[in-house]
Amino acid sequence: MSKGKAPGQHQRKGMTLMEFFDRFPDDAAAERYLAEARWPDGPRCPHCESANVLIVKSRKPQPYRCRTCRKHFSVRTNTPMHASNLGFRVWLLAMYLMATNLKGVSSMKLHRDLGVTYRTAWHLSHRIRESWSDEQMRAAFAGPVEVDETFVGGKAKNMHAVDRERRITGRGGADKAVVVGIKDRRSGEVVAEVVADTEAATLRPFVEDHTRPTAMVFTDGHKGYNAVKRPRAEVHHSAGEYVRGIVHTNGIESLWSMFKRGYVGTYHKMSDKHLHRYVNEFTGRHNMRPEHTETQMRSTVRAMEGKRLPYAELVAGDPAVAADLSEPW
Ligand SMILES: [Zn+2]
Repeated sequence: MSKGKAPGQHQRKGMTLMEFFDRFPDDAAAERYLAEARWPDGPRCPHCESANVLIVKSRKPQPYRCRTCRKHFSVRTNTPMHASNLGFRVWLLAMYLMATNLKGVSSMKLHRDLGVTYRTAWHLSHRIRESWSDEQMRAAFAGPVEVDETFVGGKAKNMHAVDRERRITGRGGADKAVVVGIKDRRSGEVVAEVVADTEAATLRPFVEDHTRPTAMVFTDGHKGYNAVKRPRAEVHHSAGEYVRGIVHTNGIESLWSMFKRGYVGTYHKMSDKHLHRYVNEFTGRHNMRPEHTETQMRSTVRAMEGKRLPYAELVAGDPAVAADLSEPW
């Protein structure tokens, strides 16, 4: 999305909240926008891909009918908006808020600002995160790239060099989840994933899957990277060294810093079960950042294609419906 743009050089070109409401005065305007963003070349059947589509004037039972497979559909069909009773403007406004707030938006804030129940707001924000879930499937980076891990949850704080070394042997934080990430210096784009541990068997495939064989890789001195089959240079944080010329991991660490600001300032808690969704949110937003707000919203709508996240699936395995507890306020 931000190919060819120097990261951090741009000033974000935005749509103000006033402009948002001018542009989308009602649900009909929001629905038109969603349809144009999803189908720039005209409506396409989500059931069979046919472009031979009839617009149903009465909108009953749905606004479109496919002439090929004869099924009806709407702009919600086969997206996270499927079976949602929320207005189109609510959906768009939630996308707007989540795309433009760099530290995220809590479910409580969405609940208040959108006038929906807390549970609906929580489900809504997870469905928008689901739209960004392809972030980890980007084309392999050409590099140079920076790779680093961070620890989330438990007593996670900014880890010092000593702690970072301790993980090599004892891991020093069994109660913490591990997230590993890569930032491509050329495009400024990132990928990040929740992983089981910081062992070589885990880190190596992650790095190799996301980088081309010739990509230069910068890491810290963690031994887990030794097996990575890429040209590589390391800075030795344990020796107090953080930058040696071009050898540093400051770029990927700035993603962690934003993620932790969101964790501490916005979400307060991210359950292990849903942690990967928050990771998708922060990487998705990072990668969209250079774009105009309008483009960010359009990309989000396009990324909704084929993704569904029913409430039952989201809370599956949570007997107490931990939904209401997952962000404690
Ligand atoms: Zn069809």
